Amino acid sequence: MTRKPGLGKHHEANWMEQDPTKARAEHSGYFPNTEDLGADEMRVIILGSGMPNARKSQASASILVELGNGDKFIFDIGSESVANLGALEIPYDWLDKVFITHLHQDHFADLLALWIGGWTGGRHGPLRVWGPSGDKPELGTKAAIEGFRNSMLWDVTSRMGEVPSGGGEVQVNEFDYLGENQVVYQENGVTIRSFPAVHAIDGSVSYSLEWNGLKFVFGGDTYPNKWYVEYAKGADLAIHECFPTMDQLVDNYKFQPMTAINVAIHVHTAPSAFGAVMDLVKPRMAVAWHFYNDFDTRYDVYEQIRSTYDGPLALATDLIVFNVTKDEIRVREAIVNPNTWPAPPTMPPEKPDHTLLTPRSDYINSGMLSDLVDKAVGPELADFKKRHGLD
Ligand SMILES: [Zn+2]
Ligand SMILES: [Zn+2]
Repeated sequence: MTRKPGLGKHHEANWMEQDPTKARAEHSGYFPNTEDLGADEMRVIILGSGMPNARKSQASASILVELGNGDKFIFDIGSESVANLGALEIPYDWLDKVFITHLHQDHFADLLALWIGGWTGGRHGPLRVWGPSGDKPELGTKAAIEGFRNSMLWDVTSRMGEVPSGGGEVQVNEFDYLGENQVVYQENGVTIRSFPAVHAIDGSVSYSLEWNGLKFVFGGDTYPNKWYVEYAKGADLAIHECFPTMDQLVDNYKFQPMTAINVAIHVHTAPSAFGAVMDLVKPRMAVAWHFYNDFDTRYDVYEQIRSTYDGPLALATDLIVFNVTKDEIRVREAIVNPNTWPAPPTMPPEKPDHTLLTPRSDYINSGMLSDLVDKAVGPELADFKKRHGLD
């Protein structure tokens, strides 16, 4: 649910000349791969807005930021969010930069899906990952990705030599979680900074992204904290967690009341506290994010936010799209095709390096019903080879 920001262009005309055979340029929804991104424009799409229990209507934490210079960044990549990313029909080559706020599964579990799925979907180069250290080395992003590498050893070994190897790599850039407004990325006119958040244990951070005079801020899970209030100032789009109300945690999640207090108030940000934070930050648009946004829950969340904040506000759900320019912040829903295939890669196909193949054992190969396959597929294979000039 969103409220008109009351900023930017006013569309005063309530009629327009139209051609019955022509589509209007302005759509009520955002249809992926149908709109150019302006040179000065930032497009932000919520890929996951829900809770640690991903569900059909809301994946776990993830946000895509697309810039008019062509760069694209993913902030968090929680469980099931990659399905929404894939639905945007963007070549995987361009989806190679991921910034993780903290290592809760609802904020990074689908890194596996993007790493492997993006690789097989056409990404030629490594997946680049940024994330915080922990207060022990084993609690940092580097160790977590190393764990992913170990758990994916069978998967990666099985693909090496079958597909080009470049996309099988993950590069990790771990930075100090205590850094205050420290630059963690600076390329192509884009500066991304991190600052600490106050969550379950040490090691959650928030990010700001600045480019071309526009500022996007994304808070990691947190108790309201001084760093966000300070470094989110001047944000065009400020996303911050806004947890379900204590009553919702008891009624719907079946939490014990004391657990509800602890989780909603002490580890996360309650809706009224979210409002109080935004009342200090005063962004052009505040986005309340990380709660189940349902017909019977959003009004309580909204009222509690409005008890402390009366500025521009959007209540996030999956596939909400923000087009941000100096003049306007336009908020729409994306309408996606649930049956998308990967978009075409942006680079010519590389040949797989067959020397990297790990052969199967003779014993397992002895189980192959080759005659059956030759007979069943033979005519189709001959025809396919002929059509593709293969012999
Ligand atoms: Zn979370
Ligand atoms: Zn968390």
